[in-house]
Amino acid sequence: LRRNGGEHEFHQAVREVLESLGRVIAKHPRYAENALIERICEPERQIIFRVPWVDDKGQVQINRGFRVQFNSALGPYKGGIRFHPSVNIGIIKFLGFEQTFKNALTGMPIGGGKGGSDFNPRGRSDGEIMRFCQSLMTELHRHLGEYTDVPAGDIGVGGREIGYMFGQYKRLTNRYEAGVLTGKALFYGGSRARKEATGYGATYFVQRMIATKGLDFEGKRVTVSGSGNVAIYTMEKVIEFGGKIVACSDSNGYVVDEDGIDLELVKEIKEVRRERISEYARLKGAGTHYIEAGSVWDVPCDVAMPSATQNELTGKDARTLVKNGVLAVGEGANMPCTPEAVRIFQEAGVLFAPGKAANAGGVATSALEMQQNASRDSWTFEQTEARLATIMQAIHDRCAETAEEYGTPGDYVLGANIAGFVRVAEAMDALGVI
Ligand code: NDP
Repeated sequence: LRRNGGEHEFHQAVREVLESLGRVIAKHPRYAENALIERICEPERQIIFRVPWVDDKGQVQINRGFRVQFNSALGPYKGGIRFHPSVNIGIIKFLGFEQTFKNALTGMPIGGGKGGSDFNPRGRSDGEIMRFCQSLMTELHRHLGEYTDVPAGDIGVGGREIGYMFGQYKRLTNRYEAGVLTGKALFYGGSRARKEATGYGATYFVQRMIATKGLDFEGKRVTVSGSGNVAIYTMEKVIEFGGKIVACSDSNGYVVDEDGIDLELVKEIKEVRRERISEYARLKGAGTHYIEAGSVWDVPCDVAMPSATQNELTGKDARTLVKNGVLAVGEGANMPCTPEAVRIFQEAGVLFAPGKAANAGGVATSALEMQQNASRDSWTFEQTEARLATIMQAIHDRCAETAEEYGTPGDYVLGANIAGFVRVAEAMDALGVI
């Protein structure tokens, strides 16, 4: 605590994992030897740097850039870059810590890392976004490489930003190193289904989780928070599976559409026009309403898929969802449910899929993008999605079986934490005191 003062989200993420480890240490005491757990909680490297850039008015702006290279026991550091004004070292460390176990759960050869900046992209012109990305990469490039550290997108960073960063990396290094970033557009080394992967993957996970109780998405009311990358492709897969999306949101408010959210309209507003979700109610009109303030979790639903940001679903929201009869919760975002909310769901017998397992489809498909880059290959959408579906089923089953093995059947939090930890711990143990 003293060492990482003020890093609330980091403490929260570490505590949540450590609370699950009692049973595994009791069974395998060697995991507690050689300060292994302390080493797992300490990032291998943390880089903080100045990002100066010039806005459209000719004014110099300064932001702070971060890259936390958390753990490379299983492979090169891998994890997204976030642009949001709330970004600080504690948030990037929590994300890097979570990423380490998530990546381990995929079974693929990737370590964990995360990066970002307190830059706020909202309202910035395309030119400003490009200059910012170029400045960030001017410093960051020396720490990256396909065998070293491979970033991707996250909040505020999508295909456009990845393109600008890749362009600057290529210029600075004079290398066409496609495998240094994932989430690239198709025509310069991207993978089909990467954009869709996190949302699709979370839906596959929840589908398999509810199937353990004989349920499916057909006819279910589903609420999704956010309206960004993860939210949009969660909605798409839920609709394909026969569910009805009743509400989605952004940081200003939420829209409810009892006829089922019109996803094409959401995509037009968010991906093309880059506008607020309030536009949905204005454009669709009758039968929809937009509520500013308040919580999207007040809308009664069978399945809740929080897909916006950390700690967005509180204990109060959890109580409301339970009162309204929610059956399952799948975290598309990283740590969107507070510890109190998770406890309320688990005590109420609600099926709960933690983010480090449920949203691992994005990074797994990034690893598939790296495979395609390394082999100079490009797979079809169907081939890539089929791989994603198989990976998500395997992650689900690994979590479920681990929970069962450790005497807590149905506890996906414990299952994910232990299964991820064991793979990282085994690798670290084999590599000596590093
Ligand atoms: P986007 O930037 O595409 O979308 C984020 C959405 O969440 C927006 O609708 C945004 O609204 C909303 N949001 C962001 N911050 C807040 C906040 N403080 N309060 C309320 N709403 C907020 O990001 P992604 O969809 O990529 O990421 C969403 C979550 O999923 C994050 O937790 C991310 O770490 C996680 N994730 C993403 C992966 C990926 O592949 N992209 C992979 C695995 C996890 P607004 O526009 O108003 O800011």
